[in-house]
Amino acid sequence: MISIEEALRLVLTNLPPLRTEAVSVRQAVGRVIAEAVKADGDVPPFRRSAVDGFALRAADVAETPVRLRVVGESRAGSSYAHAVEPGTAVAIMTGAPVPEGADAVQLVELTDRPGPDEVVVRQGVKSGSHIAPAGSEARRGETVLEPGRVIGPAEAAVLATFGRSPVEVYRPPRVALIATGDELVELEETPRRDQIRNSNATSVAGQLQLLGVPAEYLGIARDDPGDLKERIVEGLARDVVILTGGVSVGEYDFVKAVFDELGLEILFTRVAMKPGKPTVFARQGEKLVFGLPGNPVSTFVAFENFVRPALGRLCGLSSPDLPRVRGTSGAEIRHVPGRTAFLPAWAARRETGWVIEPLDWRGSGDIIGFARANATVIVPADRAFIAQGDEVEAMLLADFAWRTRPKP
Ligand code: AMP
Ligand code: MG
Repeated sequence: MISIEEALRLVLTNLPPLRTEAVSVRQAVGRVIAEAVKADGDVPPFRRSAVDGFALRAADVAETPVRLRVVGESRAGSSYAHAVEPGTAVAIMTGAPVPEGADAVQLVELTDRPGPDEVVVRQGVKSGSHIAPAGSEARRGETVLEPGRVIGPAEAAVLATFGRSPVEVYRPPRVALIATGDELVELEETPRRDQIRNSNATSVAGQLQLLGVPAEYLGIARDDPGDLKERIVEGLARDVVILTGGVSVGEYDFVKAVFDELGLEILFTRVAMKPGKPTVFARQGEKLVFGLPGNPVSTFVAFENFVRPALGRLCGLSSPDLPRVRGTSGAEIRHVPGRTAFLPAWAARRETGWVIEPLDWRGSGDIIGFARANATVIVPADRAFIAQGDEVEAMLLADFAWRTRPKP
C-alpha cells in the first residue's frame, strides 16, 4: 500500500505528452490555449473617446464657462475627418475616434447646448482627459495571451478582438468508461432482488463533464475475464480507460488479472486512503487505465484524487486539482489511523474563517449521504481523533460554488 502522495506522483509522472487541436473561438471557453496570441494591431486602433461629450482643446476651456463653435460630429463607426481648430469643438460619442487637434473630451453632462452650432462648456478639463490613446491597451505584436491561459469568457473576447479563430488549444483526452459487476443493471431497467442500478457510470461521466472531458460509455462488463478483456481492449482505442468495480480482493474481482493478461504496466494497486483503497493505476504505452473501486463514494473520491489531476493536466490546466481550505472542524471525528480519510462535509466560510462540518453518512456505499456534501474533510492518516474546533483541511468539490445546503 502506498501513500496518496506517492500514488499521485506515479500518476503525474506517467502522463503522456499533451496534444493540441484547433477550435473555433466560439467553442473555446473552458479550454486552455496552446499558442501565444499576439496583437494584430494596436488596441484601441485610434484615440478613442471614453465618454459622450465634446472633443476640444483643453487650453480653450482653461477659463469657464466658455462658448465653443461645434463644427461637426464623431460617432462610433463614423469619425470626423478634419482637425479641431482653436475655439471649436466636435460632438463625440463613446467609442468614437477623437479628431486631430483635440486633446481632451469634456463630458456632455458638463456642457450646455444653446444651439446646434455651439456648446457652452461649464468646467475645464485636463489635456488627455477621457481619451484612451491608440495602443494604450495593447501594441501591435505584443503577446496578449500566453500558452497555458484558461479561456474564460474574457479571454474569448480577447481572441475575438484580434480575430483569432480558430485557435490552438489543448485537446482533452478521449476517455472510455466501463462499469463492471454481475449485479449491475442500467438505470432504465428494474433491478431484480439481487441486482442494483449502475450509478458509477453516471457519477464519473458527470465528474468528467465538470472537467470538460467527454466520455464514451462502453457499458457494463460482467465479472468475467473474457468480457472484461474485450471491453478494455475496446477502451484502449481511446487515450484513457476508466473502470469502476472489480478491483478488490473478492473472488470475482478480475480487473487486475485482466490488466496483467493484457500486458498493462500496473503502477499501483492499493493506496492508503479511505475510501478508495483498492484504486488501480496502469498504463499501456501512452494510454492510461484507472481501475476505481466500485463503492459509489470510493469511485467518486478516487476520481477526484487521481483521475481529475491527470486528465485536467492533459487538458492543459496547470492546477486542475480541487481547491483545499483549512478551517475548524464543526464536530469531533474518530478515525482508525493508517489511511487518509475523505469524509463528506459541509464547508462554509464564516467571518472567523472556514468551518468544516462532517456530515452523517453510512460509509463508502452511501452516495445518498455523500450527495449532501459540498466538500470532504481530509483526516490525515496518522490522526486518531479530531476534536470539535480543531484545525482540519477540506477539499472543496468541483461545483462547490453553486451548491446549496440541503435541509437535514
Ligand atoms: P466491487 O468493487 O466490484 O466489489 O464493488 C463494491 C461495491 O460497489 C459493491 O457493493 C457493488 O455492488 C458496488 N458497485 C460496483 N459497481 C457499481 C456501480 N457501477 N454502480 C453502483 N454500485 C456499484
Ligand atoms: Mg464488482
